[in-house]
Amino acid sequence: MKFDRPEEECGIFGVFNHPEAANLTYLGLYALQHRGQESCGIVSSDGMYLHAHKSMGLVADVFEDQGIFNTLPGKSAIGHVRYSTTGSSVTKNVQPIMVDYSRGSIAIAHNGNIVNAQLIKDELEAWGSIFQTTMDTEIIVHLLAMSKASSLLDRITEALVRVEGAYCLLFLSETQMVAVRDPNGFRPLCLGKRGDAYVIASESCALDLIEAKLVREIEPGEVVVIDKDGVNSFFPFKKVKPTPCIFEYIYFARPDSYIFGKNVYMVRKELGRQLARENKIEADLVIPVPDSGVPAALGYAQESGIRFEFGLMRNHYVGRTFIEPQQAIRHFGVKIKLNPVQDIIKGKRVIVVDDSIVRGTTSRKIVKMIRSAGAAEVHTLISAPPTDYPCYYGIDTPTRKELISSSHTIEEIRKYITADSLGYLSVEGMLKAVGTENTDFCRACFSGDYPVEFPILSPEAQLGLFNKE
Ligand code: AMP
Repeated sequence: MKFDRPEEECGIFGVFNHPEAANLTYLGLYALQHRGQESCGIVSSDGMYLHAHKSMGLVADVFEDQGIFNTLPGKSAIGHVRYSTTGSSVTKNVQPIMVDYSRGSIAIAHNGNIVNAQLIKDELEAWGSIFQTTMDTEIIVHLLAMSKASSLLDRITEALVRVEGAYCLLFLSETQMVAVRDPNGFRPLCLGKRGDAYVIASESCALDLIEAKLVREIEPGEVVVIDKDGVNSFFPFKKVKPTPCIFEYIYFARPDSYIFGKNVYMVRKELGRQLARENKIEADLVIPVPDSGVPAALGYAQESGIRFEFGLMRNHYVGRTFIEPQQAIRHFGVKIKLNPVQDIIKGKRVIVVDDSIVRGTTSRKIVKMIRSAGAAEVHTLISAPPTDYPCYYGIDTPTRKELISSSHTIEEIRKYITADSLGYLSVEGMLKAVGTENTDFCRACFSGDYPVEFPILSPEAQLGLFNKE
């Protein structure tokens, strides 16, 4: 059995030492819903046993029945929200994964993508392991179960030394919660505190909701063990230069979160300012593609002095564009999600700011929408460089073939999306806006320079990668 496409875009959250651990985890997952809308789950520990509830669907639906929380007793809990591509959208792949093994029970929640998963899996299967899911996360379970080490920390470390790629992990045993961020620190992870309880979350916005204080971010390569002795930190892996994902700032994380040392909103606004410095356009209005384009559009407006308006309204009850698995439905999805405000747009020269063009279908729809609302001109500006390469570390970008900018010039893309002009942010401009004084970011989606090699790829992914000119 082969793995499906990578573990994409997930959010993890955990609480240790709180009488309402499962309930707080539920709230935390609510705040992380933007990181995954396909399925979710919570596993709690009462000190003796683990208890789980998980299913396909949004947090609000999966935990709709308040009675569920009576089945999740105990003072510690971990949770997961997951989004992945079609092939793996099945109930057996819903996280956290929970297993019983010789040492008791353990639950795991994972955000990221393990790039050597298939290699390890083939090896484990040759030794007789039987896999129940198509998730790369399951290899960690098998490696843990095989370890002869006596402490959970050592078993986890032993398992993870073999694993390469992007992972933020949360483990829950009967008595301990362990958080791990991979040595490159691709995905964000932070530690919070609420009274005597400790909290771990993918993004700080989840701490805010439950009124927990942000203590600090978990460091790249750090393993944090939380148990009755408090919080203990370890750095068991070989040190490498950290490369957090720049796309978290550009698109994925919530603007109110504080990740990789900065507030996401402020970074996006600066990207917009830089976009204005690099792309001067005569226009009457700047409008964002909501929601992710809003801070960058504001930054653009402030830097250029061009008036900002909400010219597109978003229906918030529709999920992100990528949720729909088929091209045909995605076309429809944009319309279902956005509607122009005619009185704002009519007769105006409009600049529309978005954070990225992936396949180009969304931008094309948006330009047509704005034009049909009576705009005199439509100029599309993107607050990031062209997305030329797929991500193998946990952001859902399609294969190289499907990424419009990998095979088309900017002028060709402009024609396709039918805009009067199209401008991107330069790589240098993006780095300047984000600020690289202390950090070297992974920007493989823009440059094709992948910080962690992937020993094995699906034929589909190889096609995308080796087309690199
Ligand atoms: P497309 O129609 O494929 O060009 O999609 C572009 C839109 O998708 C933009 O409005 C982005 O905000 C959004 N987007 C970019 N990257 C992702 C991603 N990894 N997952 C979901 N949506 C994305």
